[in-house]
Amino acid sequence: MDSTNPATNRPLESYEEHSPSKVDTMLGDAEAAFETWKHRPLADRERLLAAAADVLRANAREYAETMTRETGKPITQAEAEVEKCAWVCEHYAEHASAYLEPDHHPSPPGTTVKTVYEPLGPVLAVMPWNFPFWQVFRFAAPYLTAGNVGLLKHASNVPGCALAIEEVFREAGYPGGVFQTLLIPSDRVADVLADDRVEAATLTGSDRAGRAIASTAGEHLKKTVLELGGSDPYVVLADADLDAAASTGVWARNQNGGQSCIAAKRFIVVEAVYDAFLDRFVDAVESLVVGDPMDPETDVGPQARQDLLEGLHEQVRASVDAGATLVTGGEPLDREGVYYPPTVLTDVPEGCPVDTEEVFGPVAAVYRVEDEAAAVEKANDTAFGLGASVWTADRERGERLAGEVDAGCVYVNELVKSDPRVPFGGVGISGYGRELSEDGIKEFVNRKTVWLA
Ligand code: NDP
Repeated sequence: MDSTNPATNRPLESYEEHSPSKVDTMLGDAEAAFETWKHRPLADRERLLAAAADVLRANAREYAETMTRETGKPITQAEAEVEKCAWVCEHYAEHASAYLEPDHHPSPPGTTVKTVYEPLGPVLAVMPWNFPFWQVFRFAAPYLTAGNVGLLKHASNVPGCALAIEEVFREAGYPGGVFQTLLIPSDRVADVLADDRVEAATLTGSDRAGRAIASTAGEHLKKTVLELGGSDPYVVLADADLDAAASTGVWARNQNGGQSCIAAKRFIVVEAVYDAFLDRFVDAVESLVVGDPMDPETDVGPQARQDLLEGLHEQVRASVDAGATLVTGGEPLDREGVYYPPTVLTDVPEGCPVDTEEVFGPVAAVYRVEDEAAAVEKANDTAFGLGASVWTADRERGERLAGEVDAGCVYVNELVKSDPRVPFGGVGISGYGRELSEDGIKEFVNRKTVWLA
C-alpha cells in the first residue's frame, strides 16, 4: 500500500498489506479480546478512553502532520481535527455510563422489566480518508466504550493515519486486540465482513461502497450503520443576514478542500437577495488562500488524490457543457500537486452532475429560486438526505422549514457540523443509523430485555 503526498503528487511511503493469514490471526485476537473486554467494568473503559484523549493531545502536531501529508488537509484544520477527536473521547468517557444505564419499563405488579445494553463483539469499521482521524474516533469512542472491539479498514491512501490511530489506543493502555488496523484493500473487505467472528460493520464513504457493504452484511445478516455522501442544500431566504450567510457558506463549502459529506453543496437563494448574496459569496470564495497545506495561512490545500480531482473536474465540465455558468475557478491549477481552485457555478441545469451527484471538492452550485416554497422544493430535489442549512432572521420560520426539508439534520443560521453531543446521520441514499450522542453508543449493542417475575 503506497501513500502519496497530494501537495507534490510524489510517493510518501510503502506499507506491506496484511496477508490473509495475518488477518485471520487478527480476527482471532479480536474475538479473544472481546471475551475479557466486555467484562471490564464500564468505568475502566471510560478511564482508558480519557487516556486516549490525553495521548491525542500530547501528540497533536505529529498526528496533524501525518494527516496533512497523506491527504493535503490544511494543517490548522488537521490540528483542529485531533482536538475534536480528544473531545469525543472525553465526551464518552464522561457520559457512557449514563447513556448505557438500563431502562425500566411499565410491567405487571411484582415484576421488574428492563432493557440492558450489552456489546455485540468485533465491529468492522470501513472508513474514508477525508477526516482520517475524526471518522475513526467517531465510531471507536462510543463502540469500544460500550464493550465492543474494533477492526479498522481505513482508506488505502491513509495507511500512516490508520497505524497512528492504532498506536493511540496502544499508548493509552488498551489491551491488545481491542482496536486493530487491518491493512487491506477494499476488495478484501467482503471476506472479513463475512467472517463469523465479525458481528457488525460501520462504513463512512460513498453510496457505492455503502451498497457493497450493505449487500454483504445482508447476506450474512449483520447489522450495519452507513454514513454515506450528501448534497446538502444551503437555503438563503430574503430576511437572512447576508454577510453571515455568505461568509459561513464559503467555509461550509470549502473547508477540508470541499471534501466533506456535510459540506454545503447546493446554495439555494431566493430571487430578492440572489444578486446581493452572490456578490458577497463570490468575493469571499475568491479571497480564499489556496496553497501549501503545511502553511498555517492556507485555507484550501490540494485535493486528496489525482483520480478524485479528475472526477471532480469532469463533473464541472459536464455541468458547464449542460448549460451551467462558470463564475470563478473551474480549471485544475497549473502547479505541482493536486490542486483545484474554489469554484462557483450558477444557472445550474436540472439533472447535470453538480445538481444530482455528490460534488466532493471546492465547487459550489448556486441556484436562483422564486420564493420560500421553491427553495424547499429545490432543497428536497435530491436522492441524498444528510444535512441542510437554512438562513433566515426569523427562528420560527427556520424551525418550520426544518420540518419541511428531508434530511438527517437541519441547522438554522449555522453550518452543518458534527458534535459529540448530537446525533448524526442521514436518510435516503445518505445512509442509515446514527452516530454520536446516546444514539451512537446504542447502535452496536444488544438491547436485551430482562423480565424478572
Ligand atoms: P469510497 O467510498 O470508495 O471509500 C471509502 C472507504 O470505503 C475506503 O476505506 C474504501 O477502501 C472503502 N471501499 C470502497 N469500495 C468498497 C467496497 N466495494 N467494499 C468495501 N469497502 C469499500 O470513497 P472514495 O475514496 O473512492 O471517494 C469517492 C467518492 O465517495 C467521493 O468523491 C465522495 O463523493 C464519496 N465519499 C464520501 C465520504 C463521506 O464522508 N461520506 C468520504 C469519502 C468519499 P479503499 O480506499 O481501499 O478503496
